[in-house]
Amino acid sequence: VIEKGQPEHSIITTCAYCGVGCSFKAEMKGEEVIRMVPYKGGKANQGHSCVKGRFAFGYATHKDRVTEPMVRDSIDEEWKVVSWDEALAFSANKIKNIQAKYGRESVGGITSSRCTNEETYLVQKLIRAAFGNNNTDTCARVCHSPTGYGLKATIGESAGTQTFESVMQSDVIMVIGANPTDAHPVFASMLRKRLREGAELIVVDPRTIDLLNTAHISANHHLPLKPGTNVAMINAIAHVVISEGLEDKHFIEKRTDEYNAWREFILDEVNSPEAMESITTVNAEQIRIAARAFAKAKNGAIYYGLGVTEHSQGSTMVMGIANLALATGNIGREGVGINPLRGQNNVQGSCDMGSFPQELPGYQHVSDDLLRGKFEKNWGVTLDNEPGLRIPNMFDAAIEGTFKAMYVQGEDILQSDPNTQHVQAALSSLECLIVQDIFLNETALYAHVFLPGSSFLEKDGTFTNAERRINRVRKVMKPLAKYADWEVTQKLSNALGYPMNYGHPSEIMDEIASLVPSFSQVSYKKLEEQGSIQWPCNEEFPNGSPIMHVESFPIGNGRFAITPYLASEDRANKRFPLLLTTGRILSQYNVGAQTRRTANQTWHKEDVLEIHPNDADERGINDGDWLGITSRAGDTVLKAKVSERMQSGVVFTTFHHPISGANVITTDSSDWATNCPEYKVTAVQVEKVTSP
Ligand code: SF4
Repeated sequence: VIEKGQPEHSIITTCAYCGVGCSFKAEMKGEEVIRMVPYKGGKANQGHSCVKGRFAFGYATHKDRVTEPMVRDSIDEEWKVVSWDEALAFSANKIKNIQAKYGRESVGGITSSRCTNEETYLVQKLIRAAFGNNNTDTCARVCHSPTGYGLKATIGESAGTQTFESVMQSDVIMVIGANPTDAHPVFASMLRKRLREGAELIVVDPRTIDLLNTAHISANHHLPLKPGTNVAMINAIAHVVISEGLEDKHFIEKRTDEYNAWREFILDEVNSPEAMESITTVNAEQIRIAARAFAKAKNGAIYYGLGVTEHSQGSTMVMGIANLALATGNIGREGVGINPLRGQNNVQGSCDMGSFPQELPGYQHVSDDLLRGKFEKNWGVTLDNEPGLRIPNMFDAAIEGTFKAMYVQGEDILQSDPNTQHVQAALSSLECLIVQDIFLNETALYAHVFLPGSSFLEKDGTFTNAERRINRVRKVMKPLAKYADWEVTQKLSNALGYPMNYGHPSEIMDEIASLVPSFSQVSYKKLEEQGSIQWPCNEEFPNGSPIMHVESFPIGNGRFAITPYLASEDRANKRFPLLLTTGRILSQYNVGAQTRRTANQTWHKEDVLEIHPNDADERGINDGDWLGITSRAGDTVLKAKVSERMQSGVVFTTFHHPISGANVITTDSSDWATNCPEYKVTAVQVEKVTSP
């Protein structure tokens, strides 16, 4: 890192990587960012940061940035650099012609969890009002869509219930399918502090995650379950709670519905730890001990990540977690709660802003005439009352020939979505793919229009973090490609004939506040005064809501859900004897498009396959050997890392580098309720090969 001297001024903004949402001071010399310093006044991070956030400014001015729009008639042609007006007219004509030929439903788009709330709102508005259909989806489809479904069904709101700080009041902390020290490092530091103060830790994860190595903690319980058996595990834990009379009877009586049916289900012997032992591969007594510790805690909190959601039973597992929190009365006060650790900086916001095909902003269903009517009046259009296509449906419809054009903002679907071959087939079937991004990403290989995007340093707006905290994003430099993303969406809408005339993102937020009840008191003025706001922020909670569900749930009482365990479709057998699971590491972020273009690249240059010593010995594998990995979907090659962190029978890799193509081998199995891909369970064979 080059020392660049003293700053002339600084601007406070928000990190664009993970769902912690750390506040930073961008220290500037003129329009150049010379340093990012964690901001002490940031309520989510209180002056801390991780190695990703500190060096994030590196990618904003990277030489790979594309700053001029480009078009081509066919993906076999070279790109042609054009003016903004030409690119937008080209895009609008393509969309209009395709809709004239194939119908209104033949086009759609994907919003980005890396863009601001205001930008996401505009993309879904463009799709609903200008395209005239509900074919809008978000990358949350492939990460936390089961959180949306499962929490809405049980506690009535698709969001985490606490502030991060709440963990400092927890006595027992259950971490399920999450690796906070790598994926949410600043929150992990807070969590570790609480563990050192005496809280107990329960980790439900196939791997020995670093949190388990926290020094000086009073007790930890590791339940190293087999990938794909989360629901069996949560049911077994709940079975212990109920069968041993450890439930919170008062809370159940006062605050919940549908308990008796659930009680009968959970007490069935098939849900006992002993019955589940052969499924989870975790010793029944270990499960009992952990379950008792959680149930007896004064304050028990649950934190979970993509190891919960990215399964064929992702939504079932989220409901299972809610069942446990309701049964033990761990909701509605400090130190407890259900806390999804959101992956991307604004994945909460992209869901809140109406990116899903079935819901308008604020999770207001498209089929509700009253709610839809409110948007129709404000937007001056008639809206479709049927849910549109989800991302996997768009891919299928493209291959079938009924879906012809797609607008993708800030998302590399070719690299991030499962079963790459299927995605390639879908994208190459489109007559018009419009990609808007800061780099020419992998998806752009199949694009007909490339619209240069703007980084988080080039625009005003807001991100909403995993604790529902709306943080300001402030423009520190002019957009390299002249326009911020929200301006480009607005121009595309105008070119299509649906007028949008916002002068500043604050005006977009004012419109959101007028349409979304939980945002009704949110404004840029209040954000300046308070620093940040946790929604709901409305007449009842004018300064926001750090803890949710204190007195009641949006659906009245919490609802227990029946959550039977079903095995994943992709199972290990003789041909594919190991189970592959995927995840992130500390220095890289998701598909790596940003972190690979910063100082972070120094620490992690390639994805590797972590394998247990027993499995490595069996195959004559040593550290650094090249391995061929084959699944039912495809094959790839990675270097070996022999690691005791793995359990025998399970291998692990990251997906930060395109060359490794981790998603070439993941299958298209997905969550039954939301189609979230089952990235965490792929049966594979691993063999030593001589070269890549
Ligand atoms: Fe904070 Fe996450 Fe950014 Fe790290 S990546 S600085 S933890 S927001």
